[in-house]
Amino acid sequence: MLFRIFEKTELRVLFDLLAEKNMIVGPVEAGVDLNGSPLYAFEQVSDFHKLKINYTTTKLPAKRYFLPFREDLATFRMSGDDWQKTVDYNIDRPTVFFGLHACDINALNKLDKVLLGNTYPMPYYAAKRKNMFIIGMDCLPQPFCFCRSMGADTVLHGFDLFITDLGNRYFLEVLSSTAYNLLQEVRTRPPEEADHVQYMKTVADKNKKFIAHVDTTDLTKILDMEFQSAVWKKWGDQCLGCGTCANVCPTCYCYGVEETTGVDLKSARKTKTLYSCNVLDFAEVAGGHNFRPERSSRLKYRYYHKHRGFVEAYEESLCVGCGRCGEACLADITVPEVIASVRGEERS
Ligand code: SF4
Ligand code: SF4
Repeated sequence: MLFRIFEKTELRVLFDLLAEKNMIVGPVEAGVDLNGSPLYAFEQVSDFHKLKINYTTTKLPAKRYFLPFREDLATFRMSGDDWQKTVDYNIDRPTVFFGLHACDINALNKLDKVLLGNTYPMPYYAAKRKNMFIIGMDCLPQPFCFCRSMGADTVLHGFDLFITDLGNRYFLEVLSSTAYNLLQEVRTRPPEEADHVQYMKTVADKNKKFIAHVDTTDLTKILDMEFQSAVWKKWGDQCLGCGTCANVCPTCYCYGVEETTGVDLKSARKTKTLYSCNVLDFAEVAGGHNFRPERSSRLKYRYYHKHRGFVEAYEESLCVGCGRCGEACLADITVPEVIASVRGEERS
């Protein structure tokens, strides 16, 4: 990895260079919450001044740009006596993600393992993913962030450039050759000892701001032991089964497929829609049998997939600790509290 320093004014130069040939998606202000604090969302940005690079966690992750909530896998139209099939991979202009936090880049890396893996790579995801240039940005931990517990507060791969704010200048981690070539047109310099010192201080200051925590020690073993625990019933009774947690989660990828025909019976489409394992009919099969009719079994399944099954398959959790699910949950169910209760810990 190569390290560089650039002055803050050069960020605009970088943005303009990228905007020449790419669609840029980045954090913008999207209203205020009940306390009057700004809310942020990932949107297409063409005006540099709309980019809010010092944003706090967005309500929704950037996943709609590479794993949309709904997308057509194929459309069909009758032509003469034949059906013509069109597969739309929906490849837009190359997309630059400008300012993803480490947790969201880690989430993408996890999605890659599943959706680009050797068994069943998903061409729709792959088409969008290969067209991406990712600029990471350091973050300000929020009270609900527990990415540090999940090892997702820093990231070593899956981005082209990563920017850390050192106050009056930026520290750059340059990972890809594309980023390296791009920086030839931006004024940068090699870091000096004082930059290294400031970088370490910035990281140490950030680490002191984490409040939420999940103890992952022996978690898979504890989950195995506590499969029949009464805590699942307790959280299940509290859960509304609304599926919001999966919707806001940067790593949830489960989906359902639906086939519909047009009223003229000469057209049809096959559509994929993201789905949540907490929703009542998620495990319902043909014939009407539902393998997980109780909310407690569905909620438990979500936790076992994230913190047990995925760890067994990939030696890492499917949760990056962004805290979005807990923030969005109307029933106040948060990962730190659920895991603490499974471990038998009381939290106030
Ligand atoms: S945990 Fe919360 S967000 Fe998720 S389904 Fe239950 S009530 Fe909805
Ligand atoms: S489970 Fe919750 S905290 Fe973990 S990655 Fe998903 S939204 Fe973030």
